[in-house]
Amino acid sequence: MARHLITSAIPYINGIKHLGNLVGSQLPADLYARYLRGRGNEVMFICATDEHGTPAELAAAKAEKPVADYCAEMHDVQAEIAAGFRLSFDHFGRSSSAQNRALTQHFAKVLAEQGLIREVTEQQMYSKADGRFLPDRYIEGTCPNCGYDSARGDQCDNCTKQLDPVDLINPRSVISGSTDLEMRETKHLFLRQSAMKDKLAAWIDSKADWPVLTTSIAKKWLFDGDGLQDRGITRDLSWGVPAQFEGAPWEGMEGKVFYVWFDAPIEYIAATQELSAQDGTDWARWWRTDAGAEDVTYTQFMGKDNVPFHTLSFPATILGVNAAEGENWKLVDYIKSFNYLNYDGGQFSTSRGRGVFMDQALSLLPADYWRWWLLSHAPESADSEFTWENFQTSVNKDLADVLGNLVSRVTKFCNSKFGTEVPAEVVLTEREEALLAQFREGLAAYEKAMDAIQVRRSAEELRALWVLGNEYLQAAAPWSVVKTDEAAARGIIVFALNLIRLYAVLSRPFIPDAAQAIMTALDCEDWSWPEDLDAAIRTLPAGHAFTVPENLFRKVTDDEREDWANRFAGRRD
Ligand SMILES: [Zn+2]
Repeated sequence: MARHLITSAIPYINGIKHLGNLVGSQLPADLYARYLRGRGNEVMFICATDEHGTPAELAAAKAEKPVADYCAEMHDVQAEIAAGFRLSFDHFGRSSSAQNRALTQHFAKVLAEQGLIREVTEQQMYSKADGRFLPDRYIEGTCPNCGYDSARGDQCDNCTKQLDPVDLINPRSVISGSTDLEMRETKHLFLRQSAMKDKLAAWIDSKADWPVLTTSIAKKWLFDGDGLQDRGITRDLSWGVPAQFEGAPWEGMEGKVFYVWFDAPIEYIAATQELSAQDGTDWARWWRTDAGAEDVTYTQFMGKDNVPFHTLSFPATILGVNAAEGENWKLVDYIKSFNYLNYDGGQFSTSRGRGVFMDQALSLLPADYWRWWLLSHAPESADSEFTWENFQTSVNKDLADVLGNLVSRVTKFCNSKFGTEVPAEVVLTEREEALLAQFREGLAAYEKAMDAIQVRRSAEELRALWVLGNEYLQAAAPWSVVKTDEAAARGIIVFALNLIRLYAVLSRPFIPDAAQAIMTALDCEDWSWPEDLDAAIRTLPAGHAFTVPENLFRKVTDDEREDWANRFAGRRD
């Protein structure tokens, strides 16, 4: 049994996320966590809400609530939706927790002691119309790198370059639209990433097995132009982790907080500490290499826009802290990043109500339908696109016609001819031996793809296993055989019933509810992974009672497809 730490990029607190966000981090992370647990590994799967920063302040103001109350409410909303999608977090934390405040301040203090933080008096955008300094996200302008005209002050969504607001060409306030901005003097803390450049480069180079999408983005910001730049880690805001320490105030930093991107990844660790506070879990054996985490494999999941922070900024924090005596924090072992999921010829848009958001999706169909489509179309090697035609076809064919139909035919046929008890022991004829040989090969391919976190490939391999079962049943044709050789028909159906149980076990990472429905119908709780296929195919003994399940999946109709396409098309501009 190995130990795996898995984190999903943490979703920002303001508002409900769309399906593209879901498939870019939380959902594939859940797939991997469920798979590793299924194979008997010890897993710690962590996510949280990212609660600090100006967007939360402004959203709270709009909702006329104190920001802490607003965040608490939205955290619960996101947690409930995550549960609806069956995201199996061991803990879904909050970056505004006491644990994150303490750890963020501790890391900053150690970094300063290591000489890795410098104080910078700088000019910052002040909006006279808004009466405040404008944080990064509330300044937009033209990207100096690629010319995109709606680049945010912290990052360009078009080319992913990390920016500082002063870099923008023709900046304007997002709050008021005012261009009456002036530079005013303010003091900030900078993480000396440039001093860590060689260390970071060597570390990235040691990750030969990482996806090219991940390493190419990291190397771009390490080496392009003037190379990796120092990064401001404080902001003129009130909502966040104060840039102060208990008993040792940081002079000149009164009224400032750490930048949300400094404290957010630290929340991966702090969230595990939150869990410890709740149930006594030993967080340190996951995160401290001097307390057991040396044996842990740590995998992060994220969209490509988050890669620079996870390959450079956060590792700079950890590597910098680890240079100090007694600090031994776990660095990530593998980063799985995703491209974007687009929506029907364009982008998802919150402001224009375009595309399907997580709560809406669950109001239309159960989680498994979405999980299956999203994972089997995950934007791995390139951006991918959601269309209702594709969704309807995929769900109807893969889930209803292939898996659902097989389960239904086998249980119904057995029930009508032999009753609701497994009607014999499994005896393998040549036909079953041949099927098992094919199945063994397919299973190995499925495991290989899952081990490598090749999400689409894994879905293809799983579907191929379902197809094998359908072909077996079609060729064996127990409904014909039963007319002349009842014993042989019993043999076929017993084998098929056991095959269905295997599908529940193997499919659970993708479609946990359907897997549970199959197991409930089979009155079986043996979820063990079929490491020994010959034994696993004999799990259900003669005389074992089962029930015929309700149809596992219904089909999406043409009317529904058209209705939903219209409903989520968004307002035309
Ligand atoms: Zn750009």
